[in-house]
Amino acid sequence: MSFGSAASHRRVPRRLDASAVCPCDSGLPFGECCGPVLDGDPAPTAERLMRSRYTAFFLGDAQHLLRTWHPATRPDTIDLHDDVRWTGLAIEQVGAGGTEDTSGVVVFTASWEQGRGASATGGALHERSRFVRRGARWSYVDGEVD
Ligand SMILES: [Zn+2]
Repeated sequence: MSFGSAASHRRVPRRLDASAVCPCDSGLPFGECCGPVLDGDPAPTAERLMRSRYTAFFLGDAQHLLRTWHPATRPDTIDLHDDVRWTGLAIEQVGAGGTEDTSGVVVFTASWEQGRGASATGGALHERSRFVRRGARWSYVDGEVD
């Protein structure tokens, strides 16, 4: 399992109502959390960008993932694994990444399930992601998975 393997794959992202609970588990409505960031607003903090990227995985929004990936480390395309369902996000640690910072680290666990019925499997991705801010925009640099 990887959050960012490169392969040729394309699909239309799902959409959510602004009043739906945001997939990133913030407890906020989508329209007040990751929705505006997915629509192109700058994320104010590294954590908010990380949350929006989780939500992009949840919704299948590869364009947002590519747009928010640092050009130096960005893959050409992203394979979103159609059969993987992202089932939860827990932010465990945030290092810097605030509105006055130019770099930040977010440690998180993202849970997933794959397959159906008796063959269903699941797990959790634990990653320490690095972000940098250029101007008003945070971007994802890379992550260590353990
Ligand atoms: Zn959110």
